[in-house]
Amino acid sequence: MTESEPHGSRFRRVLLKMSGEALLGDGEYGHDRRVLRQLADDCAAVHGMGVELCLVIGGGNIIRGSTLAAAGVERTTADYMGMLGTVINALAVQSVIEHQTGIPTRVMSAIPMSAVCEPYIRRRAVRHLEKSRIVIFAAGTGNPYFTTDTAAALRAAELECDAILKGTQVDGVYSADPRRDSNAHRFDKLTYLDVLARDLKVMDASAISLARESSIPIIVFSVHAPGSFARVLRGEGPHTIISEEAAS
Ligand code: UDP
Repeated sequence: MTESEPHGSRFRRVLLKMSGEALLGDGEYGHDRRVLRQLADDCAAVHGMGVELCLVIGGGNIIRGSTLAAAGVERTTADYMGMLGTVINALAVQSVIEHQTGIPTRVMSAIPMSAVCEPYIRRRAVRHLEKSRIVIFAAGTGNPYFTTDTAAALRAAELECDAILKGTQVDGVYSADPRRDSNAHRFDKLTYLDVLARDLKVMDASAISLARESSIPIIVFSVHAPGSFARVLRGEGPHTIISEEAAS
């Protein structure tokens, strides 16, 4: 890792996981320009704090394997199509971050695609992070039957990230859907086991288990509020921390 300490951040190296659906904004397919621009600004703010930053973007705004499989496409083919969707998103995010902020980025794909991006090689990814490049991991784990949540936990473990930041539509983990239930309350802290036992829909179970095995906290926050990514890294603003430690 770099010698310089991040200023203001509780963490030195973090991975941001954002779903493909978040890129939809108010649209029904593809990418919302406003969401991409805000994501670039939010990443620049965190990068400016001296934090080493990597991203995993889902593909739900383009293709979800299970939906295509239900339409008759063979499951593994549908999943490969889903992974290709995440590469499309990674390229969109890379382009907007670089053009808007000037921060150098690299896209690394779990499925080699030499004409468009680098293949994922762990040691190269570490080097990019040490050189303050934002690294965007594409094509999930490279395997069907997995999700980009699991890819996020896997990359965070491999790269020894200090935290996984899960950007969602709401500002943390709630007891029920706060958009439907006015009695729903937000948890400040949860354990990995709480999430698994209560089947709270934060990340899929394999991602939670992997984060737990690697002792990487998962911080759930809203991607809608501008600046919330940096605020959460400073320990401010609403969010939920999932770790081994129970709420006091
Ligand atoms: N996918 C896969 N293996 C992976 C990651 C993703 O097969 O390691 C496929 C799967 O079909 C999934 C799609 O890619 O539905 C998009 O990923 P995901 O559903 O995780 O995206 P998100 O919900 O985060 O937008």
